[in-house]
Amino acid sequence: MQKIDNYNFKGKKVIVRVDFNVPLNKETGEVSDDTRIRGALPTIKKIIEDGGCAILMSHMGKPKNVNPNEGDAAFSLKQIIPAIEKYTKEFGVPTIQFAEDCANADAQALALKPGQILLLQNLRYYAEEEGKPRGIDKDDPKMEEAKAAMKTKQADFAKKLASYAEVYVNDAFGTAHRKHASTAVIADSFAEDKKMFGFLINKELDAMDKVLNDARKPFTAIMGGAKVSDKINVITNLLDRVQNLIIGGGMTYTFIKALGGKIGNSLCEEDKLDLAKEILDKAKAKGVNVFLPVDAVNADKFDKDANTNISDVDNTPDGWMGLDIAEKSIKKFEDVIVNSKTVIWNGPMGVFEFEKFAKGTSAIAQAVAKATANGAFTLIGGGDSVAAINKNGLADKVSYVSTGGGAMLEYMEGKQLPGIVAIRG
Ligand code: AMP
Repeated sequence: MQKIDNYNFKGKKVIVRVDFNVPLNKETGEVSDDTRIRGALPTIKKIIEDGGCAILMSHMGKPKNVNPNEGDAAFSLKQIIPAIEKYTKEFGVPTIQFAEDCANADAQALALKPGQILLLQNLRYYAEEEGKPRGIDKDDPKMEEAKAAMKTKQADFAKKLASYAEVYVNDAFGTAHRKHASTAVIADSFAEDKKMFGFLINKELDAMDKVLNDARKPFTAIMGGAKVSDKINVITNLLDRVQNLIIGGGMTYTFIKALGGKIGNSLCEEDKLDLAKEILDKAKAKGVNVFLPVDAVNADKFDKDANTNISDVDNTPDGWMGLDIAEKSIKKFEDVIVNSKTVIWNGPMGVFEFEKFAKGTSAIAQAVAKATANGAFTLIGGGDSVAAINKNGLADKVSYVSTGGGAMLEYMEGKQLPGIVAIRG
């Protein structure tokens, strides 16, 4: 597999799939969090400094219009150009060119000179990018036909994008779990030595492979968030690898109820009770220590100003719901985390968006940072745990913060991601 580190882009036209799916300030239209833009810079910089030119392509949001000429202005990538130029000017590219129609950018791509950057309009203005027919009901009898036709159109769209360049780089980890034109299909048009991952994807894969294949023990997985159903496959895959499994957040209560506890109005997936029992049995059979909360901060309603009380986690008062872990659980979890050599964390311990129920998640974030300071390798992933780490100002106090929520979870489940397979095989 071609590596970006030892590739010389001199004189090459390079098409780069980046993840510029950035949030915008609704009033000003400005980029409100440029983490993803910053994430793509090392790859772009290398191409430019080697003497190549970069054609950047990305999606942003979910535009509905199929015709790019009527493309939804709210989703135009044009508006993020200043946020990119702010950084590219530091390596000699103060102005970025823009192609209004990503599927008709031949002339602009052809005219591109070394040291220049061309940004293509939002790929999802075209249904071909995702390869899903639009404007047809999923139950329509013509759906199968439409899907087959779209597959051909998607391949053509990918070929068109490929025709702009001699080399393809994929650096969009956040969409690596999707088989889209720009993330996977396009790779078919490039020879083995003309396609590679960018620096960001390499970092993501290194961090995840390290915990999946090369973890130092004790290895602790911390799983939180709302539902067991979202995390079941990750938990199952990790049971073969970890020594400790900490469970927190809303999913706690499906386990507690499965064990016969009283959970009041707490979140519970009734149809997952057997599954929760199965996980606990499997963990036991594999010798994995499972740590469930022992106490909880309860609320009388799901509200930031709710009244609160504290109870044992398996004795929630009637009419109340557990929205955070309480002191005894925090202490128990902290002990496990700070004594671990590898930690992976996905999902908050409580409804951390409400200040009254944010304490457990903050304490876990601090404990993960402490474990890192003690020499552990710590990987944080999933939108909400990343937000929690950032909220506590600890992003640079952990080993790695993954940028791809869904992609990271699927990789951790042991799945083959189309965007990764397309290059790595
Ligand atoms: P996820 O996307 O699955 O990681 O879930 C994150 C969401 O879970 C956050 O929005 C939290 O507010 C929510 N959450 C965490 N703990 C609880 C809880 N005890 N009850 C209800 N929701 C929770």
